[in-house]
Amino acid sequence: MGRLSYPDSPDTATVVLGAGPAGLTAAWELCKAGLPVLVVERNPHQVGGLSRTVDYKGFRFDIGGHRFFSKNADIEKLWSEILGARMLERQRLSRIYYHGRLFKYPLEIWDTLKNLGAGEAAACVASYLRARARRPADIRSFEDWVTHAFGRRLHEIFFKTYTEKVWGIPCSAISADWAAQRIRGLSMTALFKAAAGWRPNPSAPLIKTLANRFRYPLHGPGQMWESMAQRIEHEGGIIRLGERVIRIHRDSRGALAVTTAGAHGERTYPGRHFVSTIAIRELAAAIDPPPPPEVKEAAEKLGYRDFITVALILDQDEVFPDQWIYIHEPGVRVGRIQNFKNWSPAMVPDARYTVLGMEYFCFHGERLWRMADAELIALAASELARLGLGAAAQIVDGAVVRQHAAYPVYDHHYRERVARMRTFVESQVPNLHLAGRNGMHKYNNQDHAMLTGLMAAWNIMGGRFDPWRVNSDALYIEDGHDGEDGSRLVPMSVAASEIAPPAGAEED
Ligand SMILES: Cc1cc2nc3c(=O)[nH]c(=O)nc-3n(C[C@H](O)[C@H](O)[C@H](O)COP(=O)(O)OP(=O)(O)OC[C@H]3O[C@@H](n4cnc5c(N)ncnc54)[C@H](O)[C@@H]3O)c2cc1C
Repeated sequence: MGRLSYPDSPDTATVVLGAGPAGLTAAWELCKAGLPVLVVERNPHQVGGLSRTVDYKGFRFDIGGHRFFSKNADIEKLWSEILGARMLERQRLSRIYYHGRLFKYPLEIWDTLKNLGAGEAAACVASYLRARARRPADIRSFEDWVTHAFGRRLHEIFFKTYTEKVWGIPCSAISADWAAQRIRGLSMTALFKAAAGWRPNPSAPLIKTLANRFRYPLHGPGQMWESMAQRIEHEGGIIRLGERVIRIHRDSRGALAVTTAGAHGERTYPGRHFVSTIAIRELAAAIDPPPPPEVKEAAEKLGYRDFITVALILDQDEVFPDQWIYIHEPGVRVGRIQNFKNWSPAMVPDARYTVLGMEYFCFHGERLWRMADAELIALAASELARLGLGAAAQIVDGAVVRQHAAYPVYDHHYRERVARMRTFVESQVPNLHLAGRNGMHKYNNQDHAMLTGLMAAWNIMGGRFDPWRVNSDALYIEDGHDGEDGSRLVPMSVAASEIAPPAGAEED
């Protein structure tokens, strides 16, 4: 097919809302088929969305370290097609910090016992035996489940603090289902068997989600998305940065055009198809004429968990060997510390320095979110020193990135709310294709977002794929066995009336 460009052929063009992995993948697939595409992106400086890499004076860092791994061969192939040899192969090293000690993660029994010390180890074993001796009448919460499986002491050391930092609610309020699904395969028996050298499949990780090897672009995940954006432009696609979608015009047949607002004022782009990867809440507010009140209200009630990265630059070539460390220590707010130089040496401009990402999980509007940058940098520096992982005297600079809507919140009503919006879009605006993480309100990785973007493109080209059936492993399922709607498992609250924990887990 000959190449068509956007302004000449709006009657056949697709307008993509958002230049994250989902939107760019959809645009790239359409471009490769010779179809006209225009992408509008709110960020005035860069593409990549949550998977962008921030460059601060030559020091690079991610919004959370981004591992590239997928069970989907097409996605792995696409990453290779875009970056080739610039994709590094990495061996995972990540540990848990607790009370001044670093525990291997995935947990290994002898390392754990050695680190705990004889007294604490004996107390943990006794606590485990006590827990096994009496099965509680009702295992309702995450806390009940983990305590029964590992004993109260191990629950407090390895599960409680970190889980509560990430999700923002007590473990006693998180449903047991999540632990059963998420920690499946990990038990004291499995740990002891592994310690004794017995594992049914030695190469398989102890927990399903613990990929021990992964790929990572030389200059961070943003390099993947910057390169894909260049290819799109090279093929005639248009990417407009600094333009926020404020209106989606429609009539009785579907969407007609998108209006954006930016430094140059408002612009309207007509099209035949539209792919939306922007948050459902924002999308619903932009549709004009608006959806019925019950649909709009449902979308307005969707929630998001926010995330702050405080990048600290240290005049020190080696700080610790891990790519990241989970901070299980109570008494500090930091939840995880990334060491980006260990993801790729090219993340620092000079090997004499290190760039750490001190990660804080929070809600938009809470005090942490509102703190001035200087205050956050001081907090991160003091917590790093308190943990003994880096000396404050070595810190020469810092930068703060606040990421709004990093995680779509899964509460007890989210499914029904998303379903309302989906039904409305499919029946009233059929040429508006929803894709991606916040675009479908699914807590998932890049590969998943990309696959939904690919499906949106294939559907535009006449295919009949259902992106809602892409599961957490970025596989396309037809038989419905893996989760009810293909979503990644996240905790749910015990009581329906409670606010359930926001999405986001140690793996993400
Ligand atoms: C802390 C953290 C760690 C993670 N770690 C990993 C990992 O290790 N591996 C992995 O594969 N994935 C990881 N992820 C997930 C990954 O970031 C997402 O799956 C992926 O970025 C989703 O892509 P997307 O295109 O759907 O959405 P996004 O990346 O959110 O992109 C959406 C784009 O739309 C734009 N936009 C929003 N509203 C508007 C508007 N009104 N107008 C115009 N543009 C708009 C945004 O600016 C953004 O660029 C992590 C995520 C987080 C938060």
